[in-house]
Amino acid sequence: MKVVVIGGGLGGLSAAVTLAKHGADVKLFEQNKHFGGKMMPVDQEGYHFDFGPNTITMPEVFEDVVRQGGLNPAEELPFIQIKNHTRNQFSDGSSIDFSSDPIYMKKQLANMDSSGAAAYDQFSAEVERLFELSRQNFLYRSFSSWRDYLSPSLARNILKVRPLQSLDRFFKRYFTNPNIIQALNRYATYVGSSPYSVPATFAMIAHLELNQGVFYVKGGNTKIASSFVKAAENQGAQLFNETRITNIAIDGGKATGVTTSSGEYHEADYVVLNGDLLHALPELVPETYRNKFSNEKAASFDPSISAFVILAGLNNRLEHLHHHHLFFTEDYFKEFESLKRGEYPDDPTIYIGTSAKTDPSVSPNGDNCLILVNAPALKDDSSSDSSEYKEIIYEKLQQASIPVKDHIQVEKVFTPATIRDKFGAYKGSLYGPSSNNKIQAFARPFNRSQDIENLYFCGGSTHPGGGSPMVVISGQNVANDILGILVDRK
Ligand SMILES: Cc1cc2nc3c(=O)[nH]c(=O)nc-3n(C[C@H](O)[C@H](O)[C@H](O)COP(=O)(O)OP(=O)(O)OC[C@H]3O[C@@H](n4cnc5c(N)ncnc54)[C@H](O)[C@@H]3O)c2cc1C
Repeated sequence: MKVVVIGGGLGGLSAAVTLAKHGADVKLFEQNKHFGGKMMPVDQEGYHFDFGPNTITMPEVFEDVVRQGGLNPAEELPFIQIKNHTRNQFSDGSSIDFSSDPIYMKKQLANMDSSGAAAYDQFSAEVERLFELSRQNFLYRSFSSWRDYLSPSLARNILKVRPLQSLDRFFKRYFTNPNIIQALNRYATYVGSSPYSVPATFAMIAHLELNQGVFYVKGGNTKIASSFVKAAENQGAQLFNETRITNIAIDGGKATGVTTSSGEYHEADYVVLNGDLLHALPELVPETYRNKFSNEKAASFDPSISAFVILAGLNNRLEHLHHHHLFFTEDYFKEFESLKRGEYPDDPTIYIGTSAKTDPSVSPNGDNCLILVNAPALKDDSSSDSSEYKEIIYEKLQQASIPVKDHIQVEKVFTPATIRDKFGAYKGSLYGPSSNNKIQAFARPFNRSQDIENLYFCGGSTHPGGGSPMVVISGQNVANDILGILVDRK
């Protein structure tokens, strides 16, 4: 069985490992030099940066793929759990450290939100319930058609995961301090959406971070991608970098192969598209073959938000900076209103990830800061943008006594347009379609084409959604579908 995978993001790599392990003849094509897609190592003048995933949850998902590749996860992926993992700093000067230690959480909450402290165990149990229901019913299965949504048990379970309540409303049931609610509301951005619109189902992210924990891979999170490459090759998959696919050949309603930009043709019994579906499908398959996924349909999806990112290598270590550190805006609602209008916020919430705080060896000469703020997706696929917004970010950090600008040795800026062009991301969005619309949140593009029977989709733009563990699960689901393996996670 010949399988071609288009795109070497985590979703495509994960599918390649499982397919190759079960005897498929797998060829994976990636247009960039590196494999891993948005999980991209950037190494410059002795500074290592993990572009993309900084906050890692569900380590078992990555370990499972490495194990399937015949490798030892403990050796390939030395995960470190960061207990008090995220400093949330607010505009009034107060802060709370999110932690997977419930005693520490309640101790901090007792001073800031006493009713929230009292309700914390109940809150933890509810977010765990949301996660478990999602895990059992949605995460480990692919969706190929509307029929998949129509089973009575699925409909019943969808109703149990609070699909009609917003994330913001859900958190307000347990907490009263606006700062705590603001910090929890940030989880909406993990699916590129607004906490004031996204369904409360996504409060399950709080279970991952606050109950299960946040992890880092010693040596850099990008080791996840390199271990997947090793695992895929170990099982006999052939991986080609710097090879762009320009066309999927269709004959009689089936994909028969792919063509590279240099004109080489590779036959396939199955094709798995890991590139952003909304961007790649219209490019690779002529519209005449896509009755159910026309260009108009692709354009009808509301894109998730994008990011404005600065990679800053400093000549010193900033004492007050934590591995995961947030500097919140005064008015989070206003920030999301600006994003909705397609505008950059005047007073953005700033995330800084500095892995050198946990692992100084990755950046011996000073801090390696990934500075990220939410940015609107681009208006259309050809818009351009500028890097000047960085000055607003540096100014705000200066005011928060984090003088990044004074210490910069190395600086690299990624705008939404860079993200679009580098990874083929639709309008620069990080996670394909947003989850702001209640229907779109559950009905992401299917994992299998409804027009071309042996064409499958995995990655952040499809089901179950964006974020590094989810795209890996997506690749696994698609591989298992092709192989006909049923996974029982109950
Ligand atoms: C700045 C940033 C911060 C993030 N932070 C986190 C975080 O903290 N935690 C977390 O879990 N997630 C985070 N994410 C999200 C996470 O990185 C993504 O959800 C995930 O890596 C996407 O994987 P994917 O499989 O969808 O593929 P992608 O990474 O999108 O890769 C798809 C690949 O397909 C290739 N491709 C497309 N078209 C073609 C073609 N025609 N021919 C050949 N190749 C093609 C592209 O070059 C790309 O490499 C972040 C993302 C970004 C950008």
